[in-house]
Amino acid sequence: MTHALESYAAGRWCQGTGQQRPLLDAVTGEIVATIPECGPESAVLLEHARTVGGSELRGLTFRQRAAILKDLARYLSGYLDEFVALSTRTGATRRDTAVDVDGGLGTLAVYAGKGLRELPDAMVLADGPIEPLGRSGAFAGRHVLASRLGAAVQINAFNFPVWGMLEKFAPAFLAGLPSVVKPASQTAYLTERVVRRMVDSGLLPEGAISLLCASPGDLLEHLGPQDVLGFTGSAATALALRTHPVVAGRAVTFNAEADSLNCSILGPDVSPDEPEFALYADQLVTEMTVKAGQKCTAIRRAFVPAALIDAVADAVGERLRAVVVGNPADPGVHLGALASLDQREEVRRAVADLGTAARPAFGDPGKVEVVGADPQLGAFLAPILLRTDDAFAAPVHRVEAFGPVSTLLPYDNLDGLTDAVALGEGSLAGSIVTGDDDFAREVITRLAPWHGRLLVLNRDDAAESTGHGVAMPQMLHGGPGRAGGGEELGGLRAVHHLLQRTAVQGHANLLATLVPAADQEG
Ligand code: NAP
Repeated sequence: MTHALESYAAGRWCQGTGQQRPLLDAVTGEIVATIPECGPESAVLLEHARTVGGSELRGLTFRQRAAILKDLARYLSGYLDEFVALSTRTGATRRDTAVDVDGGLGTLAVYAGKGLRELPDAMVLADGPIEPLGRSGAFAGRHVLASRLGAAVQINAFNFPVWGMLEKFAPAFLAGLPSVVKPASQTAYLTERVVRRMVDSGLLPEGAISLLCASPGDLLEHLGPQDVLGFTGSAATALALRTHPVVAGRAVTFNAEADSLNCSILGPDVSPDEPEFALYADQLVTEMTVKAGQKCTAIRRAFVPAALIDAVADAVGERLRAVVVGNPADPGVHLGALASLDQREEVRRAVADLGTAARPAFGDPGKVEVVGADPQLGAFLAPILLRTDDAFAAPVHRVEAFGPVSTLLPYDNLDGLTDAVALGEGSLAGSIVTGDDDFAREVITRLAPWHGRLLVLNRDDAAESTGHGVAMPQMLHGGPGRAGGGEELGGLRAVHHLLQRTAVQGHANLLATLVPAADQEG
């Protein structure tokens, strides 16, 4: 019998009501599970999370919470095979799953380690030293960070059903906030399985996690001033949430990670026979094919010196010819399926839109050779490289084709390059492939305001580079403008964001006792 997804609310699993929508295997088109229209009552779910989960978590010190995360990461890794099997049904190859599932568990482990090493055995954090405010030093002030009394509600995108949840859950847990998880419907069956294992582990305090497998219903109506709303998904939904009367009216802390037209720049110093040229082409192909290009950080705009655009198109095309598209369970396959047939249609529409300003350099959205699966049933798409002669052509800086699609753009000089990159209006990640540190420094200075993260890749750091698209838990994930204007990860910065910062003024002796002695410097 088909599994009907359940929600986890107020300490128990519950079935939804209303129409059940089938969720299809991205490869075979079979029904994996169904998701109900309506879930548990939002007000009850949130209240249980806040009162039970919140008080349990706030009764633990930062280090005690970190110790639980450590055990949880270890426990979940025992179920890796189960998660991998289900992840394959989302269209993911083993390499894709490594980014989502292994990456999610790794993020949990990194936060556990950071919490154990870098956070105090206390419930309040110091943020900076005591600042004298009077002549004698008796009257002073200091900033402290304390747990909020609400819940951390997370609304996630379909492309990272595991990492997307855990990269928000881990910092929230450390910050003493219970999480309420609303996964994207399309791949919610994988999130549901992981949450079941988290609950089954018995490691989490009651109420520390809740799951809503249904449409959000009136969830936002019940948010309050102590809650936090973290969103990952499209810019259109981010706008709807940001301007929701309750979110805006009650000043609910809101963080958005939205879409982004990320750039990769080949430096003018690089010639086709140098290692950086191959690094650039390899990285572009990796970003086009990992997770079938359904990564918010993937390279959409590939800027190259005008004189090299033919050479780059040839080199990338040659690599793309070797890409095997097909059943992601087959280890010989490099490019699996998109998450759904609808998603494939959306990408085809976006490619047509881009086609008004760019011409094909490789691939055809209407044709794909598929290994080990039926191309009619699975959401397969061949990789598509486009190229334009006009680096300022508007569609290339506006349209996100959320699939294995990228566009080559020529540049003549630094001003033209950085002006064109800025047309993307803010990105999550950019990369500069160059052996010239002066060029790298200049580009970083000019483009940092438009980016959440920049990577400089060359022959000296390539062997250890974590790559353009991978959001490392130690480093900031987010970006200005179109990318949503939010910040996630960045090590303990994510925990600090979720705590309330309060300036406390009073006698210096009292202020010194607010946090443990070892944490006095903040
Ligand atoms: P989406 O359509 O915006 O949906 C994202 C989430 O919002 C889903 O859980 C969706 O639920 C929910 N949602 C939709 N409308 C809502 C509403 N009115 N109120 C409350 N929740 C609502 O985005 P998507 O198609 O899943 O994801 C693809 C996009 O996400 C791409 O553009 C990609 O660039 C972006 N993305 C960004 C990042 C990042 O870190 N910046 C990461 C991954 C993806 P349902 O699924 O149930 O409709």
